[in-house]
Amino acid sequence: MKIKDILQQRPTVSFEFFPPRAAEGIPEVLQVIDQLRAYRPDFVSVTYGAGGATRRFTEEITIQVKGQVKGEAEAAAGLEVMAHLTCVGQTREEVHDVLVRLEQAGIENVIALRGDPPRGQTDFVPAAGGFSHASELIQHIRSRFQFGVAAACYPEGHPQSPDLQSDIKHTRRKVELGADFLITQLFYDNAHFFRFMERARKAGIDVPIVPGVLPFLNAAQVRRFTSLCGAKIPAALDRELDRLGGDDNAVRELGVEYATRQVQELQQWGVPGVHFYVLNRSYSVSRILDNLGLPGHIGPAK
Ligand SMILES: Cc1cc2nc3c(=O)[nH]c(=O)nc-3n(C[C@H](O)[C@H](O)[C@H](O)COP(=O)(O)OP(=O)(O)OC[C@H]3O[C@@H](n4cnc5c(N)ncnc54)[C@H](O)[C@@H]3O)c2cc1C
Repeated sequence: MKIKDILQQRPTVSFEFFPPRAAEGIPEVLQVIDQLRAYRPDFVSVTYGAGGATRRFTEEITIQVKGQVKGEAEAAAGLEVMAHLTCVGQTREEVHDVLVRLEQAGIENVIALRGDPPRGQTDFVPAAGGFSHASELIQHIRSRFQFGVAAACYPEGHPQSPDLQSDIKHTRRKVELGADFLITQLFYDNAHFFRFMERARKAGIDVPIVPGVLPFLNAAQVRRFTSLCGAKIPAALDRELDRLGGDDNAVRELGVEYATRQVQELQQWGVPGVHFYVLNRSYSVSRILDNLGLPGHIGPAK
């Protein structure tokens, strides 16, 4: 089923995983996905690595989960799979071949991304014969395939965008070219999301926009992630992280509490779903969904 159709029916809960570095790690990822299926996510997704073997693992995990679900008639109504795909380091033909394999495996949903520059490089340089922007990939998918298509957006602006206006212009282009819905980058201050929604709607972006929420696990991690993606840590949260310092358990609990409150406020506002960056750990997301009370159903749609 296309995720855009699920979004029309109910507010979604979705979980994002990343592929392991080595093939031996695949069963562990599948195990976490399995554990979290108790929360009846509407879809799960697996990120696309910067290169090499992890990309094959992304395909493998995505296809395996889809295969499992297809084999379970009852569950099939309750879980979809979305493959991540980027333009990094691949020609158009190579990207096309990935799409063909996903299509052959029965995958119905793809999130089309440009991708970040590989480690050690600061600027994104398209591969010779490759796509330069996510919009080009979306256009390619729309002209050749039947996938449901998602794209990324940035409540605080993409770090390479010169300003919020050009950021929203390029986001709108992705929707004009065929993105059915958008998933946001992580953010820790809902005010950024609410302001982004205003800008997006004013610019005529009318597709569902699902906030991405990352329950942080430790202080170093949240500081690293936010600095990489250009999200700000609110001052009060920053002070709490300083205060708890190196006590990882306390910071993880704070992450659960913080994300619970963040999602409650987003629910009240009426978001069409919530996408959790799970980081391949079930603990925090399970706790948050338990706190929210209704696993798999997180409030009324706006
Ligand atoms: C939900 C989500 C999932 C993600 N999954 C992955 C993943 O699986 N693997 C991975 O490597 N990364 C992933 N990322 C990170 C993402 O790849 C990076 O943020 C990347 O830097 C931008 O990707 P994009 O698809 O938004 O790119 P684009 O939409 O191409 O935008 C990139 C930059 O170029 C600008 N731009 C766009 N079009 C034009 C144009 N025509 N002319 C000039 N400038 C333009 C934009 O404003 C922006 O600054 C994910 C991000 C999100 C939010």
